[in-house]
Amino acid sequence: MSDFNLLKPLKEDYGTIRNFIDGDWVEPKTDRYLDIVNPADSKAIGKLPLTTKAETDKAIQKAHDAYWDWRTTPPIVRARYMFKIKAILDKYHEEIARITTQEHGKAIDEARGETLRSIENVETAAGITSLMMGYNLEDGAAKNIDETVVRQPLGVFACVSPFNFPGMVPFWFWPYAVATGNTFVIKVSEQTPLTLTRTFEILQDADLPDGVLNLVHGDKEAVDAILDNPLVKGVTFVGSTPVGKYIYARCGATGKRCIAQAGAKNFLTVMPDAEIDRSTGNMMASFFGCTGQRCLAGANLVAVGDVYEELKEKFVKAAAALKVGPGLDESVNMGPIISRKSLERVHNYIDMAVKQGATVLLDGRDVVVPGYEGGFYVGPTVLDNVTPDMTHAQEEIFGPVASIIRVKDLEEAIKLTNASPFGNSASIYTTSGRNARTYWYKIQAGNIGVNLGIAAAMAYFPFAGQKDSFFGTMHGQGKDAVQFFTDSKVVITRW
Ligand code: NAD
Repeated sequence: MSDFNLLKPLKEDYGTIRNFIDGDWVEPKTDRYLDIVNPADSKAIGKLPLTTKAETDKAIQKAHDAYWDWRTTPPIVRARYMFKIKAILDKYHEEIARITTQEHGKAIDEARGETLRSIENVETAAGITSLMMGYNLEDGAAKNIDETVVRQPLGVFACVSPFNFPGMVPFWFWPYAVATGNTFVIKVSEQTPLTLTRTFEILQDADLPDGVLNLVHGDKEAVDAILDNPLVKGVTFVGSTPVGKYIYARCGATGKRCIAQAGAKNFLTVMPDAEIDRSTGNMMASFFGCTGQRCLAGANLVAVGDVYEELKEKFVKAAAALKVGPGLDESVNMGPIISRKSLERVHNYIDMAVKQGATVLLDGRDVVVPGYEGGFYVGPTVLDNVTPDMTHAQEEIFGPVASIIRVKDLEEAIKLTNASPFGNSASIYTTSGRNARTYWYKIQAGNIGVNLGIAAAMAYFPFAGQKDSFFGTMHGQGKDAVQFFTDSKVVITRW
């Protein structure tokens, strides 16, 4: 860390970034480009080419060409690449985190945590020799007829990722896909393409064979090329619910495997027996961490019974104490939001909440950060007197807005939470094991927190939501990812 000037970005301008295809950096032929913008000050820091269908198809073909050699490379050798990659990422951890903050805005410690989670997925995938083993049973079919299951890779897989975790999300998938013997094409978010571009630069030191891991920059055109290409055997997607539904349907229509992790609206329930003082820090991280742009972010704060007054007072006090500013400033708790468009969306939701009868206890709309007046800042916002039928209480805002909803008991809190079309995560704060057990037993969400508000599974556990937050069967990360990226083949033998 001492090598870095802490407040200064590594580079002011990254120029026109390129695709990484078949081991080479390639500038795609296109007439469409986007600016890459630093949300802390709204200045352009690079240009992104929007790759055409034809150029995306070329990347997929190269990944396909590399498949057979890679697939026949023994798993232990593939695992050794993961160890090399882990060592490289450890070395560049701070640099990668700083680029994430520069293009996304999140506080630098959050970016460090994100980079660590990328590394943990590589560590987990390094155990592929054990993770992808099959099983067998002698005389399994009849006397002298043995039965064996092997797990085999399938070919080319792809990932389409969102802006909010530009480094980590592709790592939920590609290390498992590649370690199991597949080849891979990643289309990162057009809003935050620098983190993975730099990651691919440093990963060249790992000497993965050409074509095994490829990066394509673009938008819908590149995604549609992936969805329509018959060489692609499966797609992993993380992003909003409408796009997730679209991708899942297109994969179904073209016979591809699909993991589509989608949008969220997460409820945090606080029981009268909760330890409020010990929990408010954790609630702040949930609602306002990453400026509310997390699929696991708290959105609705459900106050049960007479906890309401104390919870409201302590929650607002803690939220008001958070420092908003550029994410590279180590003293900042909350960075800017990703774009002007997102800033306007968050403002609109707050305006609409007020029109529909909510009370603003803490207003983030008029935050100004001296020296960063052009940045996309919105402060922590707390809305009270919120009822479940209000628009902002139902839809994903994806910003630092907490809505307090009062209910009489735990059953009402569970009913309210389960009425949401989303089911990514839900948390309860309580000192009662019985309340906690009733809650996790009944709640329809993929990730449950008990006395913690960001229920993020470690790399060796599966990660996905339920209902409109997830379309698919196998989840990302760990053993689920290994299953997704392999097929089981049964071999029955008599000699
Ligand atoms: P997004 O859906 O706008 O974009 C995600 C990806 O899809 C990008 O790469 C984008 O280029 C591509 N895309 C966008 N529109 C498309 C279209 N019409 N056709 C084909 N591809 C398209 O999502 P975002 O704004 O980048 O990310 C925020 C969303 O992601 C939130 O809804 C958040 O909840 C969700 N998210 C979910 C998880 C999870 O694990 N469930 C994790 C992180 C983020």
